[in-house]
Amino acid sequence: MRAHRGILLFALALAVLPIIPGLPPFWITLLNNIGLASLVAIGLVLLTGVSGMTSFGQATFCGFGAYTTAVLTTTYGLSPWISLPIALLVTGLAAVALGLVTVRLSGHFLPLGTIAWGISLYFLFGKIELLGRHDGVSGIPPLSIGSQSLIDPKAMYWVIWTCVLLAGIGTSNLLSSRIGRAIRALRTGGVAAESFGVNRTSMKLIVFVYAALLAGLSGWLYAHLQRSVNPTPFGLGAGIEYLLMATLGGAGHVWGALIGAGLVTLLKDALQRILPALFGNDVQADPIVFGILLVAALHFAREGLWSRLAALFPSVTPATPSLEVFPLPHRVIEKTEHASLLSIESASKRFGGIIAVNDVSFSVEPQQIMALIGPNGAGKSTLFNLITGVLTLTSGTIRFVNESIGNHAPPDIAQRGIARTFQHVKLVPDMSVLDNVALGAHLRGRSSVVASVLHLDRTEEARLLAEASRQIARVGLSEHMHKPAGSLPLGQQRIVEIARALCLDPRLLLLDEPAAGLRQLEKRSLADLLRQLRAEGMTLLLVEHDMSFVMKLADQIVVLDLGGKIAQDTPAAIKTNPAVLAAYLGTEP
Ligand code: ADP
Ligand code: MG
Repeated sequence: MRAHRGILLFALALAVLPIIPGLPPFWITLLNNIGLASLVAIGLVLLTGVSGMTSFGQATFCGFGAYTTAVLTTTYGLSPWISLPIALLVTGLAAVALGLVTVRLSGHFLPLGTIAWGISLYFLFGKIELLGRHDGVSGIPPLSIGSQSLIDPKAMYWVIWTCVLLAGIGTSNLLSSRIGRAIRALRTGGVAAESFGVNRTSMKLIVFVYAALLAGLSGWLYAHLQRSVNPTPFGLGAGIEYLLMATLGGAGHVWGALIGAGLVTLLKDALQRILPALFGNDVQADPIVFGILLVAALHFAREGLWSRLAALFPSVTPATPSLEVFPLPHRVIEKTEHASLLSIESASKRFGGIIAVNDVSFSVEPQQIMALIGPNGAGKSTLFNLITGVLTLTSGTIRFVNESIGNHAPPDIAQRGIARTFQHVKLVPDMSVLDNVALGAHLRGRSSVVASVLHLDRTEEARLLAEASRQIARVGLSEHMHKPAGSLPLGQQRIVEIARALCLDPRLLLLDEPAAGLRQLEKRSLADLLRQLRAEGMTLLLVEHDMSFVMKLADQIVVLDLGGKIAQDTPAAIKTNPAVLAAYLGTEP
């Protein structure tokens, strides 16, 4: 509610600003430029700040939007409003093509990729006859509404800032949706997100195209504001400035983009006026001073200015999800005639010379708690990663409900009802416990990007959050629901992972060292929870080091050593198995 009030006040302030008597027209020009830059920066916040894909090439997409409308309205005489969807389509198609080759790049190759096409397309804009080469295209008509021409910058101000507000609201909506949670997981929890059904590459592509469309819209507006375009504003330099705006304003905060855009635009303008007065007109010192000031700002506001501003206001606790909604449907677990739910047949995994898993076979029966134990490095986590598709088998077969799932991608495994936790916790640390857990229910929602942006996903969203809230209550963490997941002790973060896995509505739950880092009392309630899950029909496979925990809980135990299976039996029999004792105590059997 408070956020809505803030946006409303901001919108009102923006609305009255140009009618202030005596406001120099030059201010309107500056505000228009800030608005145009804000659109690009909002996209970059999503792309770089939230999803971790650093792009230096956003100005290129402004170029696609601007040149498309420039050519269509001058050469072909189309109305600007008809050219808008075409400009966005061209930008979107360019983004899909560039995104397909870019988003798969990892680490610093991704930003390098954006620099590469950022430079080459800039030169291309300046070489094409149709685009007027380096002189560009002029004589672009202004926008008009009915018979009213928006040739006055003040008229364009309303159009530009309406777009900025809508983009900010839509992007905030998107981020607080089911798809938004998947997007927020891309940077720090991509592997986990995939294990809950998120297709990482297509999610990255969606973000890439979304950011490009905002830049394309900015370019379209720019073309009809300036009434002429040339390649200069669409080069690498502009791309770097946009990136600075997004970073300075507040890496992951949508509204911070406006602050960054405002600051960088004002700073550039001020320097262009002040420096010639200081050094004379011959010395072009502004790029140097601009660069120094920005590097300094990045040092002092690494987290972005938005976080600093937000810290000045008391934080409000978000609303706790209402449970008074129609619950999500549950998977019907048919009583399988076939004996085993999961069967591993001669599974092997090699990493170069290391055989991490060596010809391991066993099966897990429905409603059984099976424990996988073995010394460090025995291959337990590797086996989990083979079952869940994170790693591919070197040889062997894995079947789930009699279908081969070996080497299937993690989202497909998740779809079939296998959920997992990770030995090295993979939560999104700056996202709330509630949102982290709700990510587990990703596959139980359907809402599209468009529905999320338009806030039409609220019924489904309420159901997803209610489910997450129920699972959090079930594992006993309700009081921590709104805290950032990263602020919890590691033991509790593991429990959050269990709640997230339960949100998938799984048939098989894989837990990698769930009790590590828990206190005695917490371990006991965890054991109770796991028993209760079994009683409700769930099947569990868990890796655990705490022997007394395992012995009291498991129906069957498989022991691995040096990648191979050395025993499988009931807890009582495993305790006295000579091969197991030898593996653990280092004596010869
Ligand atoms: P556990 O979970 O039983 O402690 P792991 O499955 O993590 O054991 O590891 C089994 C063996 O495989 C270890 O020798 C480990 O060093 C090796 N290993 C695991 N993952 C990789 C990897 N991605 N690359 C190379 N070696 C790996
Ligand atoms: Mg392990």
